[in-house]
Amino acid sequence: MSFDFDLFVIGGGSGGVRAARVASAEGAKVALAEDSRLGGTCVIRGCVPKKLMVFASSYRAAMGEAQDYGWTVHAGSFDWPRFQGKLNKELDRLEGVYRSLLTNSNVTIYDTRARVKDAHTVALNTGEEVTAKHILVATGGRPQLPGMDNDHLGITSDDIFHLPELPKRILIVGGGFIACEFACILNGMGVDVTQYYRGAQILRGFDDEARGLVCEMMTQKGIKLHLGTNVVELRREADVDETTGMPVSDAAAGLTHEQEAELRARHGAGKGGPIWVKASNGTTEVFDQVLFATGRSPNTGDLGLENTGAALGRRGEVIVDEYSQTAQPSIYAIGDVTNRVNLTPVAIREGMAFVETVFKGNPTKVDHALIPSAVFTQPELGTIGMTEEEARDQEPVDVYCSSFKPMQQSFVGREDRVMMKLIVSQATDVVLGCHIVAPAAGEMIQMVGIAVKMGATKAQFDQVCAVHPTMAEELVTMKSPARSG
Ligand code: NDP
Repeated sequence: MSFDFDLFVIGGGSGGVRAARVASAEGAKVALAEDSRLGGTCVIRGCVPKKLMVFASSYRAAMGEAQDYGWTVHAGSFDWPRFQGKLNKELDRLEGVYRSLLTNSNVTIYDTRARVKDAHTVALNTGEEVTAKHILVATGGRPQLPGMDNDHLGITSDDIFHLPELPKRILIVGGGFIACEFACILNGMGVDVTQYYRGAQILRGFDDEARGLVCEMMTQKGIKLHLGTNVVELRREADVDETTGMPVSDAAAGLTHEQEAELRARHGAGKGGPIWVKASNGTTEVFDQVLFATGRSPNTGDLGLENTGAALGRRGEVIVDEYSQTAQPSIYAIGDVTNRVNLTPVAIREGMAFVETVFKGNPTKVDHALIPSAVFTQPELGTIGMTEEEARDQEPVDVYCSSFKPMQQSFVGREDRVMMKLIVSQATDVVLGCHIVAPAAGEMIQMVGIAVKMGATKAQFDQVCAVHPTMAEELVTMKSPARSG
C-alpha cells in the first residue's frame, strides 16, 4: 500500500519538530501539522518566555545589591510593555527559526489542525485528507483550571505573557513548578504576590529539605505564601454579562464546559477588573488577577484517537510502550501528551528514540532514569535522582548536607541561604541523589548530573579538587554525613 508520507507528525513543539527533522534526514518523506505557532509550549508559552521573565525579574534584587556593593544605581520601575515588545519579537524570531529548520529539512508544513481519521489517515481542518505509514502524536499539554465555579475569571500560564499590564496584586493558586516560578518572577517585577497552596509544603515530590528552603526564601523575599489554603469562592463584582444581564459569576454557575469556555473567550482571560476571593482559611481579599497554576493535562481532546486502536489513560494521556508505540502499531506518541516525564529535553529524546526505532531499524527505549531538572524559582532548585525520603525507603543512606549564606549576598548583609545535598548509598557509596538550592542551581545540576548518571561514588566526588571560592565546591568537600540511616 502506498502512502502520501512515510511520517505525519501532529504537533510542532520541541518533540514533534525534532522527530520530523531527524526522520527526514534519514530519507523519510515527512509532513507536520501545527494549528498554533511552531515551537509549541516550550518556545512560545513556556520555558523560553518564562526564562526571559526570570532574567527580567532578577535585576531588582541585583540593583539593590549593586548599591550595597558601592555602585550608584537609580533603579526605576519595571516597564512591562517595553519588555513584552522585545519578548514578542524574540518569540517571532524563534518561531521563524523553527519554520526554517523544518523547510530546510524538506518537511511539508500544514499550518492547520489535524485529527486522526484512522490508523493511516489524518484529516486536516482545510478539508484535505492525507495518508502516512506512521503517525506521530506530539500534541503536548495545556493548562488545567481547577474546575470550580467562576475559574474562567482567572488566567493560566498561557495568558500571562499577553497581559496588557502587570497586575498590582496577584493571587497564584498551586504549589508546583509553574506556581512557584511565576510567584518569584512577578515578585521580582514588583507585583504584590499572594500564593495559596492546598498542601503542607510547596513543590510536592522534591526533596523535603530543599522544598523547605525554597519556601523560606520565597517568603523572605516578600511572597505571601499561605500553605494548607485554597480558593473556595471567587467572583467579579459589577461584571455583567451582556446576554444574561446577570453578574458573570452568577451567569457562569451551572454552565457546560463549552458554554464556560465561550464565556471565558467573550470576557477575555485576565480582563474585566478585580476579582474577589474567599479562601479556605476564611479570609477574603481582592486581587487584580488570579493565576491558576493547578497542573496541565494532555492535549488529546478531539484528536480522533478513538477512531484507532490507540488507548487513552485516566488523565487523557496517550498510552504508549517503552518505544513510544501505541496499541495501534502505526501510531506513536511522544512528549507531554503521553504524561511520562513532562520536560522539553525528554520529549526531544523520545522523538530521537522514535526515529532510531522506526526509521533506523534500531529499536531504542527511552531512558527515563536519573533525569536532572531545575525549578527556576529565586533561588533555583536543581535536582537529580532520589530525594532523601525516597532513598531512605529503599536502603540505608548517608546524607551530606551543607546550608550556608553565599558570599556574594552575605557581604551586603542579605539573609539568603543556599543548600548543597548529596544522598549516598551506605552499601555502595554511589551518589543516589543531589539537590541544590542556590542561584544558578540549574547550571550546576547539569554538571553534577553527568557524574550521577555515570554512577559516581561519594569517594569519586571527593577525589575532585574544589574550585575555590565557589558555592559548588561544597559538593566535593563535605566530609561527614549530616545524618545516616
Ligand atoms: P504541577 O503538577 O507541578 O503542579 C500543580 C499544582 O497545582 C500542585 O501544587 C497541585 O497540588 C495544585 N493543584 C492541582 N489541582 C488543584 C486544585 N483543584 N486546587 C488547588 N490546587 C491544585 O503542575 P504545573 O502546572 O506547575 O507544571 C506542569 C508540568 O510542567 C510540571 O510537572 C513539569 O513537568 C513541567 N514544567 C517544568 C518546568 C521546569 O522544568 N522548570 C517549569 C514549568 C513546568 P498538589 O501538589 O496537592 O497536587
